[in-house]
Amino acid sequence: MTMVRTRFAPSPTGYLHLGGARTALFSWAFARHHKGTFILRVEDTDLERSTPENTQVILDAMAWLGLDYDEGPFYQMERMDRYREVLKQLIEEGKAYYCYASREELDAMREEQTARGEKPRYDRRWRDSMATPPAGVSPVVRFKTPLDGAVVIDDLVKGRIVVNNCELDDLIIARSDGTPTYNFCVVVDDWDMQITHVIRGDDHVNNTPRQINILKALGAPLPLYGHVPMILGHDGEKLSKRHGAVSVMQYEEDGYLPEALLNYLARLGWARGDEEVFTMAQFVEWFDLGGISKSAARFNPEKLQWINQQYLKQTDGARLAELAKPFMLRDGCDPSNGPDFAQVAELLRERVNTVEELADAAVYFYRPLDPEPQFLEQHVGQDILPVMAEIAASFEAIEWTREAIHDVMKSTVAAHGLKFPKVAMPLRVLVTGEPQTPSVDAVLALIGKDEVVARLRNQLAKLAGGFIPG
Ligand code: GLU
Repeated sequence: MTMVRTRFAPSPTGYLHLGGARTALFSWAFARHHKGTFILRVEDTDLERSTPENTQVILDAMAWLGLDYDEGPFYQMERMDRYREVLKQLIEEGKAYYCYASREELDAMREEQTARGEKPRYDRRWRDSMATPPAGVSPVVRFKTPLDGAVVIDDLVKGRIVVNNCELDDLIIARSDGTPTYNFCVVVDDWDMQITHVIRGDDHVNNTPRQINILKALGAPLPLYGHVPMILGHDGEKLSKRHGAVSVMQYEEDGYLPEALLNYLARLGWARGDEEVFTMAQFVEWFDLGGISKSAARFNPEKLQWINQQYLKQTDGARLAELAKPFMLRDGCDPSNGPDFAQVAELLRERVNTVEELADAAVYFYRPLDPEPQFLEQHVGQDILPVMAEIAASFEAIEWTREAIHDVMKSTVAAHGLKFPKVAMPLRVLVTGEPQTPSVDAVLALIGKDEVVARLRNQLAKLAGGFIPG
């Protein structure tokens, strides 16, 4: 087999959305699986809608996801001379022609066709015309689509697709200002970049026969095509913001891990048995276009969150701390002042779905939070206050380890004939402000002796000063 060369060819007319990212992932994985080459091409010829900012966001998203490319990014706007050269060649060889038809003429033509009950389409009036071109008209260039025969596409995802040439018209390949059109640029690029497999969204499936006809006219080798079905919302509608975040970078902002998003996207419309959580190395090893489902996949944000959680559980504390730090700082909490954030993160990672949730859950390690009245009412009875004062005193005297903290709690429980939660819950609520935390001895060990004792005494003083819980 020849060396596999695939490409991802985003148009920078918006952010990189989930569908685009999944197409990029499949294209990348296919190249990696076959030890081929993955190329990034930015299709920036839509001058009105393409912006450098959008391009940057796409590059950032690719980098964040770790979809590394071997060649590019190539920019179509930098290849205009090459497109013009190929255009010229097609015209000279009689495979494309100038069309001088004015808008009014074309409108009239369409009206007549519709009146006759025909499908409106360009009637090829300039295709083999000997007429003298009208003065002062800048022509478009049209491609001479073969008049008969058919284009047969053995799509690697969808199977065989046959399109009769008589259904295609002579498409415009250069506008009257000389700029090449989208389908033409793609053809020249795929040819020059020696793309062997075009893997793209199936919104392009109608372009494929046109592109193949142009490639044939150029005598270019034909790549194989694999059209990947769309991603829809859970309700089967086109995926949009209503269904949750659709921009890849929004997931970074919301505290998702890139490997979790990739894993989720990989599973969306592709399967290998019941495998749900797998590394990219495994995916690359397993991936093959035949495994892609022929029908549209539905986006399920809960499933994505679940996968994210699976990854968070396995991520080491140091990395989690680094990822969560900006979220903490954003909330005005600096995790460099206080317990080692990596250890805090390891303690919390089992209980959160996102890095953002982890950051939220970590706040009480770095600053005291006043418990809400309802938590006090529920967990901190008046009778337990002296017991808490006793615990504070005992804490002061011990060497600060998780075991020693636990021992103090156990002996206090025994001395007062209480059940363990009767002591653990008020202690937790008074020190952290929260009724739900990881194991209280582990939490207290990290917060530190002086801070724990100070927080306890402070809360006890407040409660003695007036608040009488139920
Ligand atoms: N630029 C096109 C898009 O963003 C992709 C074209 C292609 O992959 O051939 O939809």
